Amino acid sequence: MSEKLSALVNIGELVTCEGEKGLNIIKEAALIFNKESGRITELGKEETLRKKYDFSDITAEDMEGRPVLPGFIDPHTHFVFGGYRAEEYFWRLQGMSYLEIMEKGGGISSTVRATRESSFEDLYRRGWQRLDSFLAQGVTTIEGKSGYGMELETELKQLEVMKKLAQEHPVDVVQTFLGAHIIPGEYQDSRQKYIDILIDRMLPAVAERDEVEFCDVFCDKGVYTVEESEKILLAAQKFGLKSKIHGDEIEYMGGAELAAKIGAVSAEHLLKVSDQGITEMEKAGVIPVILPITAFSLQENYAPARKMADRGLPVALATDLNPGSCYSESFPLLLALATLKLNLTPEEAIRAVTINAARAIDREKKIGSLKAGKKADLAVLDAPDYRHLIYHIGVNSVHSVYKSGKKVKEKGKSLKL
Ligand SMILES: [Zn+2]
Repeated sequence: MSEKLSALVNIGELVTCEGEKGLNIIKEAALIFNKESGRITELGKEETLRKKYDFSDITAEDMEGRPVLPGFIDPHTHFVFGGYRAEEYFWRLQGMSYLEIMEKGGGISSTVRATRESSFEDLYRRGWQRLDSFLAQGVTTIEGKSGYGMELETELKQLEVMKKLAQEHPVDVVQTFLGAHIIPGEYQDSRQKYIDILIDRMLPAVAERDEVEFCDVFCDKGVYTVEESEKILLAAQKFGLKSKIHGDEIEYMGGAELAAKIGAVSAEHLLKVSDQGITEMEKAGVIPVILPITAFSLQENYAPARKMADRGLPVALATDLNPGSCYSESFPLLLALATLKLNLTPEEAIRAVTINAARAIDREKKIGSLKAGKKADLAVLDAPDYRHLIYHIGVNSVHSVYKSGKKVKEKGKSLKL
């Protein structure tokens, strides 16, 4: 055989996340992949594969009975930002309202100020640390949004940081332009002017960058109206950028309906989504991305994820990592909230951070489940079986991580005193 093959053997359970429902687990499994392409060649019962392949030609690594899953995917983050807002979080804990916080200089605009002032190197260094934290939890792909520049120069700086990180860090970064995050302070009294700049000047410059795939809009009360969001997203589609929407979070606005109308890939947040919105998303194939850590952190009611799953929508979960409403990239917390607060089943929660999350970033043909031809992006658990991801509450159960077949992370051990 001319191909250079490697294998993971003695896998206690291989959680493939294949098929329309459930996890499709193979016990006592092996997974063979091509070392050069980083793609899966074949997987199945080890006994069967050993009959088919000559293992003397294959570099095999013993998994010692551990469970192996697809690398996790976070389809909604704002991980490149300047500064922190710990002060604001503490104000909120004291019961201060969002309006009072804004008056004290908090909110998204304070991150915009800090991101404008941050150097490229500083954003890159902090971005790298955040990707490291994701990787240690078995996350191999994340989506990252711009939106803390609200002016072309800083938006491009954020996107360039993500590009360099995607090239140099093992975690893959899918880029989204979120120039319509808020109406920037300097345009409070001339919002139309900012929207014109966004469409006429920022979109063409952003769309020139091949690696930017999506355009997102914060369609909600006090931010962008449904009409404005539609205009921006359709203009972006003309430049080849697929659509995402932050919608129906603070108030019901019809963000889900708009997502369905314009063929958006996903609609995100959805705390206040309508029944009609759920029906239309289902018909149009829009993926709902639910962000329970944000609702938890803001002490809001959770999005009706159970209802969406019951209606057959492929619910995806994301952390929403950002410095304001949700400073957390914790997958263990995400899975705990998904099962205890959103009432998703453990199987639905795991699909929501693998195959459904892949669909939310239009990557389901390449990642998100384990089958021949897909990338060998893998999370290996330090636990007897996959249920410990849910059962071991709030604790990272990941032992090691593979990206395109290459081991990129292994759990460290403490040293004896
Ligand atoms: Zn967000």
